[in-house]
Amino acid sequence: MARGMRLRRRKRRRKQAAECPLNTEELGRKTWAFLHTMAAYYPEQPSLSQQQDMAQFFNLLSKFYPCATCAANLRSNLSTKKPDTSSRQNLCQWLCELHNQVNKMLGKHPFKCSQVDERWRDGCKGRSSR
Ligand code: FAD
Repeated sequence: MARGMRLRRRKRRRKQAAECPLNTEELGRKTWAFLHTMAAYYPEQPSLSQQQDMAQFFNLLSKFYPCATCAANLRSNLSTKKPDTSSRQNLCQWLCELHNQVNKMLGKHPFKCSQVDERWRDGCKGRSSR
């Protein structure tokens, strides 16, 4: 088969896969990206109402996250370690530890929480979401 035709087929298959519903891994990857980015831009000094809203956000996420096992694990994790919404830095660190708990459960390496700002806010110049 001609190389050009093979490449076109591969590209078509990739495009079809990209337009399928998310599996657990894809959903997880995209959700973590959103959560860490949201934490990265949370106020340095949030008001009391912002702190309560953010805690409530994680509480609701654990009820509606569209992977039943993941949601149950999240509820269990939240019951032992409540979201620290007192500042941007504290929220980022709390979320990093939460993600590491899931990493550990799945047998993955822990992420260095000291690098969370570089990964989700400051790294790769010109790639900020703001
Ligand atoms: P991911 O774990 O998705 O991570 C994406 C990127 O985030 C990494 O490439 C890395 O750059 C960065 N990163 C990794 N760790 C951290 C950290 N600690 N802090 C900051 N950044 C980090 N899957 C299950 O099978 N069972 C579950 O119970 C389950 N629970 C989940 C609960 C939640 C709330 C979410 C959002 C996802 C859950 N998942 C669960 C999915 C799982 O965590 C992964 O998203 C999925 O397995 C894909 O993993 P990955 O190796 O591609 O990277």
